[in-house]
Amino acid sequence: MTQTITNWAGNITYTAGELARPRSPAAIGALVAGSARVRVLGSGHSFNGIAEPGPGGVLLSVAGLPPVIDVDGAARTVRVGGGVRYAELARTVHAHGLALANMASLPHISVAGSVATGTHGSGVGNGALAAAVREVELVTADGSSLTIGRDDPRFGGAVTSLGALGVVTALTLGLEPSFDVEQHLYTELAPAAMDQALFDAVTACAYSVSLFTDWRAPGFRQVWLKRRTDQPLPDFPWAAPATEKLHPVPGMPAVNCTEQFGVPGPWHERLPHFRAEFTPSSGAELQSEYLLPRGRAVDALHAIGAIREAVAPVLQTCEVRTVAADEQWLSPSYGRDTVAFHFTWIDDTAAVLPVVRRLESALDGFAARPHWGKVFTMPAPALRDRYPRLADFRALARDLDPHGTFTNAFVRDVLED
Ligand SMILES: Cc1cc2nc3c(=O)[nH]c(=O)nc-3n(C[C@H](O)[C@H](O)[C@H](O)COP(=O)(O)OP(=O)(O)OC[C@H]3O[C@@H](n4cnc5c(N)ncnc54)[C@H](O)[C@@H]3O)c2cc1C
Repeated sequence: MTQTITNWAGNITYTAGELARPRSPAAIGALVAGSARVRVLGSGHSFNGIAEPGPGGVLLSVAGLPPVIDVDGAARTVRVGGGVRYAELARTVHAHGLALANMASLPHISVAGSVATGTHGSGVGNGALAAAVREVELVTADGSSLTIGRDDPRFGGAVTSLGALGVVTALTLGLEPSFDVEQHLYTELAPAAMDQALFDAVTACAYSVSLFTDWRAPGFRQVWLKRRTDQPLPDFPWAAPATEKLHPVPGMPAVNCTEQFGVPGPWHERLPHFRAEFTPSSGAELQSEYLLPRGRAVDALHAIGAIREAVAPVLQTCEVRTVAADEQWLSPSYGRDTVAFHFTWIDDTAAVLPVVRRLESALDGFAARPHWGKVFTMPAPALRDRYPRLADFRALARDLDPHGTFTNAFVRDVLED
């Protein structure tokens, strides 16, 4: 029977007639070996056609895999199944007195799907979530299993892989001792003095910092500082402390958000903005995000400010974060300390796409790399120039997947010679 299968946002309907839900790596191997085209679906939180299998292709959900979460306390690692989401993972890891270094804004997303697209949180010293990965277990196109660890020369392509190398059945992540975090929120960071030195000081003053604006006026409406309690309490002279609990989207209920007002709590209940048991963000939205060299942050703010009359009417909120450089060849933060400009748009593709195009023109000249899991219109040739190790990834994909079983239109565009 034909089902309608959509992504979380509902803006993408996959063409697959059916969702395959194999329950073991062996069943995945049999399914893949007998299929010409396969795309994997994680928790479906991407906003574009990255997981689209195309006509006749198989959409393979990893949600039926056993929810393996094996913590090795002595090695400080966890082996996590290909369908597990951060919410379950974080609770188990915390129960062992351990922690992940960072999380994204929500814990609802799958680990494998997140690291496949370069998903990140914030913090000048924090890499993207893929930076925690030590080893990847894959089922490749011929149905066989392959493990790629950090000492394997292919590792640089194996984690942020856009789902183009095979089905990730498990990942091993590095952990650290558990820590507590407090969230301190401030409002109305005025733009007057915002130069690159101030931007660097603001974003470095806590473990994780997020700046929010609606672009209705210059400056930032909210600043979220996430302070580890084992690090000093920062002075924040640039804005006033918030007087009420806040949601990043103006008018949305703060009850959906993790505890604020400096109340200390475990890392996994403070690093994400949104609580696992509530709808994250606004729930009716599209998202885009552009990652560029951190040293250009303030120039890019001015470039976006110049078109804010176009941006503001279709915007719910814009979040500015930092990400440390990493070594995944297709990571949007590959090889450069990064500033990430995120846009939560209204849920109206026709109204949003022209603004996305204007934004991309405004950011032309900043070597911006779009988030792989969000809405963008940049043509593939422009993108390809922004990834110096793309040829290595292409060679790896051809080696592991010679007949293009895991290729779709999205991946083909990116990988084309
Ligand atoms: C409300 C909301 C908030 C968000 N916040 C952030 C944020 O703070 N930071 C950020 O960077 N991003 C954020 N995102 C984007 C999100 O993190 C990415 O879209 C991410 O890829 C979601 O993971 P997923 O499992 O849902 O991926 P899916 O959309 O299911 O898949 C994404 C890609 O991963 C591949 N894939 C998934 N699982 C596997 C597997 N087991 N094996 C092989 N390939 C696989 C798929 O084939 C596809 O190519 C947010 C998204 C939403 C909806």
